[in-house]
Amino acid sequence: MRNLVRETKLTAHDFVLPVFVSEKLTKRQAIASMPGVFQLALSDVPAEAQRAHELGLQAVLLFGIPSEKDEAASGAYAENGIVQQAVRAIKVKCPELVVITDVCLCEYMSHGHCGVTRIDGEHFHVLNDESVELLAKTALSHAAAGADFVAPSDMMDGRIGAIRETLDANGYDQTGIMSYAAKFASAFYGPFREAAESPPQFGDRRSYQMDTANAQEALREVALDIEEGADIILVKPALPYLDIVWRVRERFGKPTAVYHVSGEFAMVKAAVEKGCFEERAAVSEIMTSLKRAGADLIITYWAKELAEWTRQ
Ligand SMILES: [Zn+2]
Repeated sequence: MRNLVRETKLTAHDFVLPVFVSEKLTKRQAIASMPGVFQLALSDVPAEAQRAHELGLQAVLLFGIPSEKDEAASGAYAENGIVQQAVRAIKVKCPELVVITDVCLCEYMSHGHCGVTRIDGEHFHVLNDESVELLAKTALSHAAAGADFVAPSDMMDGRIGAIRETLDANGYDQTGIMSYAAKFASAFYGPFREAAESPPQFGDRRSYQMDTANAQEALREVALDIEEGADIILVKPALPYLDIVWRVRERFGKPTAVYHVSGEFAMVKAAVEKGCFEERAAVSEIMTSLKRAGADLIITYWAKELAEWTRQ
C-alpha cells in the first residue's frame, strides 16, 4: 500500500556519478577522507564509465587533476589535457553515457583559486573578466573533446553568457551548460579539496562563493545564469540548502541539480562507522529528501550503490 501512494521514488536516472581522473596516477588511489572513493588513472576511466552505464546511471561528472599546475591554468584548456583525454576515452567505450565536465581553474592554478589572481600587498583579488576568458576557452576544449554538458563551478560573473557565446560561435550549440548557480562558501567542501587537489594556497573563496546565509542572493544568481543561457541549475551543497533547492525549482521550473558534497558524504560514513545508523537507510532518506525538495538530478558519491539499491 505504501508503494502505491508513495510520492517520491528514487531511480538510477536521478543520480550522477562524480569521477576524478589524475594525470599523475598509473593506477587508482583511495581518497583517505572519502571511504570508497578513488582518484582514477586515465586508463581506469573507460571501465568506470562502462560500470556506471551498466548499473543504469545516465551521466558522470568529470574532474581532472593535471600533472603540472601554473599561473595560467594552461592544463585546463589544453587539447590533450587530462579531462579532454578522459572525455574522449569515455565516448569511445560508452558513447551513450552523458558526460558532464567540471569547468574551473582551481585544479590547474598553482595558487588553487578558481580564477586569475593579482596580489596587492596583503590583499589578493580574483580578476573576473580575465578568469571568464579562460573558463570559456576551457569549456570549448571540453565540448571539442565530446562533452555533452559543461559545468562551470567557479562562480565568476558573466561566465555562463561567455561560455554559451563561445560554444555557439564554434558550432557547439548542442552542448549544454549546467551552471553552479548557487554555490555556497561551505565548510562541507573539505574532503573534496583532497580529492581534486585544489586547496587555495592563500586567502579563501568567500569573495566569489556565496554567503551561506543568503537565499535571495541565490535566487538572483540563478535568474542571471538562466538569462545567460544555463540549461540546468545546480545548488551546492545539498542537505543544508534544501530551502534553496525548493525555491529555485518552484520559481524557475528549470531542471535543477543538487550536489551532495564530500563533507556531507564523509559525515554519514563516519556516523555509519560508529554504528549510529545503517548506511543504506540513511542515504536513501537523504536522497529522497533532496528529490522531494525539487532536485531533478543528484550528484552523489553513492551514485553506483544507489543505482544498485533502487533496482532491488
Ligand atoms: Zn574552482
